[in-house]
Amino acid sequence: MPLNRIAVYPGSFDPVTYGHLDIIQRSLRIFDQVIVAVARNSQKNSLFTIEERVALIRSVLQDEPRVSVDTFTGLLIDYVAARKAHVVIRGLRAISDFEYEFQIAQMNSSIGHNIETLFMMTSVQYGYLSSSIVREVCALGADVDSFVPPAVKTAMLAKYGIQSPRSTT
Ligand code: ADP
Repeated sequence: MPLNRIAVYPGSFDPVTYGHLDIIQRSLRIFDQVIVAVARNSQKNSLFTIEERVALIRSVLQDEPRVSVDTFTGLLIDYVAARKAHVVIRGLRAISDFEYEFQIAQMNSSIGHNIETLFMMTSVQYGYLSSSIVREVCALGADVDSFVPPAVKTAMLAKYGIQSPRSTT
């Protein structure tokens, strides 16, 4: 019987960027199905509501039938087990990501459920890219074309009430 290899890619995705999308596309080369799981219990002050974040991810990945988008509350490992997956994907950009991710992965593996965390190195062109940086530069009027898909850019400009951002080219 062929294996159906499922991975869960959790995060805040506030909003989804080309850095996230790159991790998703690369994960699809390893897994049959990727579940993008937007965390509901994030403490962070968010720009987009959970529903808006889910809708944006769905709209940019609508042509990818092997990706589904969901939300979760509570412990990630409980969610992963409930979805009958065994692998969590996380992206690593810098050493600063490593410390935190290492702690979480170890904690998750000690809590149980036999869940593995798989780390993917950022692609070199996205090493500096984070949702928070994109929010910051967008709010200040820079063009975010090279960081987020057009639908996300439009949604960000609407949130910030910006009509025509300054071009970076
Ligand atoms: P969180 O709040 O859980 O860190 P994010 O939405 O910021 O959620 O990120 C989700 C995951 O995507 C994390 O593992 C993060 O390291 C990874 N990620 C974010 N941006 C990039 C990027 N530019 N390249 C590679 N991985 C990234």
